Amino acid sequence: MKYDSYEPVIGLEIHLQLATQSKAFCADDASFGGDPNTHVSAISLGHPGTLPRLNKKQVEYAVRLGLALGSRINLRNCFDRKNYFYTDLPKGYQITQDRLPVCVGGSLELQMEGYRKTVRLHHIHMEEDAGKSIHDLSPSHSMIDLNRAGVPLLEIVTEPDLHSGEEVDAFMTAMRQLARYLGISDGNMQEGSMRCDVNVSVRKKGDTGFGERCEIKNMNSMRFARQAIEFEVKRQVDLIENGEAVTRSTLNFNPATGTTSPMRDKESAHDYRYFPDPDLPPVVFTQQWVDEVLAQLPVLPKAMHNKFVNEFGLSEYDAKLLTQERETAEFFEKTARACSPLGVGGKSVANLFINKISPWLAETNREIADFPVSAEQLAGYLQLIETGQVSASIANQRIFPELVKSPNTPPLELAQKLNLLQSSDSDFLEKIVDEVLAANPDKVEEYRKGKKGLIGFFMGEVMRASKGKAEPKGANEVVLRKLVG
Ligand code: ADP
Ligand code: MG
Repeated sequence: MKYDSYEPVIGLEIHLQLATQSKAFCADDASFGGDPNTHVSAISLGHPGTLPRLNKKQVEYAVRLGLALGSRINLRNCFDRKNYFYTDLPKGYQITQDRLPVCVGGSLELQMEGYRKTVRLHHIHMEEDAGKSIHDLSPSHSMIDLNRAGVPLLEIVTEPDLHSGEEVDAFMTAMRQLARYLGISDGNMQEGSMRCDVNVSVRKKGDTGFGERCEIKNMNSMRFARQAIEFEVKRQVDLIENGEAVTRSTLNFNPATGTTSPMRDKESAHDYRYFPDPDLPPVVFTQQWVDEVLAQLPVLPKAMHNKFVNEFGLSEYDAKLLTQERETAEFFEKTARACSPLGVGGKSVANLFINKISPWLAETNREIADFPVSAEQLAGYLQLIETGQVSASIANQRIFPELVKSPNTPPLELAQKLNLLQSSDSDFLEKIVDEVLAANPDKVEEYRKGKKGLIGFFMGEVMRASKGKAEPKGANEVVLRKLVG
């Protein structure tokens, strides 16, 4: 296959909307949604005579992200105007950082299926968003919603280090996870909080130079981004194999056809006439302030993942699941810490989170922050199983549902109330085993003649007769002893 001898080369420009309360340069509400054109003021509408005032949170969030990615932080930051005409840009220019971005360099590590890779960042700069044009509400008019105009953005530019749709997907997912850990953005692609331009070129495998690239604009879904990359790589390889050249261009992706097509020239031919924004003096901050921001960073996903594997003995797979969201990871850690003095290991805690808590949250449509049971109570619950007071299956079926209903009742008390405590009391066990053996004389006979596999049958009967309350290890001993006769 001709495609197999080529390698895609991909670099991303990601726009991340910051979860600040107000906009980048004025006090308008920056939250998503709201009735159209209600989060606006004379400043975001670009009325003459208004002046921008920088939102300090935007700078802090940018620095937080840069530090988490190991970027170098510029202490002196300038803003520039990027001039162009479009109806969703009432000022006629976008405030951005053209010359001096706030963060330079850094990298993000990806854990792929079977290999790790490091993606280098070129830089991160601050800017503001434009409004939204809506073309599908009216057959004759385009609508403009300026609620988004002026919302703070970070543009994250990677080096061309990615080589497949899977890597792009993993990068976007890891970036979203990091943004959420840092509390700087929800990274929600459906709501447009995270979108990306995908730069794609191809080269012969083994080559180190770069081919000519095309830029696919404004991808807001990972599925579409992967489709667009797949289409674009084939298109470029076909061109080269036909002896033609790839021409540098800006493309749209059409989800209906799965194809890319060039934007109209007018849309892509830009001369932005950047110049320093005269209304915004340079922002200068101190290394001491940067150090304070650094000191306040939470434990990051990678460190959390390593801790779960090394300290709590989780598999890579479980650690990945449990570190996806910071709240889940922190709650897991708290629970595992409450469990360890009780002799309950990380693996049992992980099973509880993955097999019981997550499905419960999904069924009740809740977030982990709304989970009613405390780490200490969960530890008490797992201890019941660990010590053999209640069998795992009985606990999961009967006690867990009660515990979420009465989260403050000690699990042991719940087990007593429901009469579910397993008994290793020998009188109780002897009686049940006697009954089971008396009810199955033929099986006892077969066992004694050598069909040792029947032990499983007898244990099953004992558990059934005791309604799960027979403590398995003790019961097993009694059964074996009585079968020997
Ligand atoms: P510009 O500022 O003109 O958009 P940059 O050189 O800053 O261009 O690159 C923008 C994006 O394009 C970056 O994400 C970068 O990694 C990516 N890129 C650059 N060269 C290539 C290439 N040959 N193939 C794929 N992506 C590329
Ligand atoms: Mg660009």
